[in-house]
Amino acid sequence: MTQKDTYRHKGLRRKLIALLRKKGIKDERILHVMEALPRHFFLEKAFEEWAYEDKPFPIGKEQTISQPYTVAYQTSLLSLQKRDKVLEIGTGSGYQAAILALLGARVYTIERQEFLHLKAKKTLKALKINNLRLYLRDGFKGLPEFTPFDKILVTAGATEIPETLKSQLAIGGLMVIPVGNRKMQQMIRVTRKSEQRYEIEKFDNFRFVPFLPGLNREKDT
Ligand code: SAH
Repeated sequence: MTQKDTYRHKGLRRKLIALLRKKGIKDERILHVMEALPRHFFLEKAFEEWAYEDKPFPIGKEQTISQPYTVAYQTSLLSLQKRDKVLEIGTGSGYQAAILALLGARVYTIERQEFLHLKAKKTLKALKINNLRLYLRDGFKGLPEFTPFDKILVTAGATEIPETLKSQLAIGGLMVIPVGNRKMQQMIRVTRKSEQRYEIEKFDNFRFVPFLPGLNREKDT
């Protein structure tokens, strides 16, 4: 890895964490891992100045690394327990997956853009983060061979809650997914109460890049 984590980066991170706390993020474990993980390692070196703004940022293929507030918000809704088996849809830069792994979850993350999948794999390998497996797959299909999952986290904007993903939840498991149109999605939490019964809770509005079907195997930007 060519990037360094300097005192200046650490200082910027401390400020970002203070801002997230001010915006209402209360889970200290989440704030702690976000303070520990260098977000600038997930961006091109030329853009590292932007890494500690509370903003999304382009990562190629018209995709973005989620805003830190959004990462903290979605992670809070997951109510993670140590060793939870978690499926993330939309690896993107790999940042959110790394946060989940640092919180002790066993993470399976899927991406449909081969370019981003390969890049995230490199970044996460360099960071030596364990408990994390990356797959180049269509997230609409989930990962049937590894079901059931305790938690599912969708980090792309869906137009509806995919039945396939619901069916891959363990009983008592939950899924956090932004649902709406292209411009705006509401954060939804689906809890699987029994084989057939799901409970739905609704939270704030966000704007994600779209949840799209199929793979894109272009390997460069
Ligand atoms: N979690 C990411 C945010 C990435 S943005 C991070 O921390 O950086 C959402 C990602 O979802 C994009 O990379 C996009 O390519 C991906 N995506 C969209 N539809 C998908 C699908 N059907 N299957 C897998 N990934 C998908």
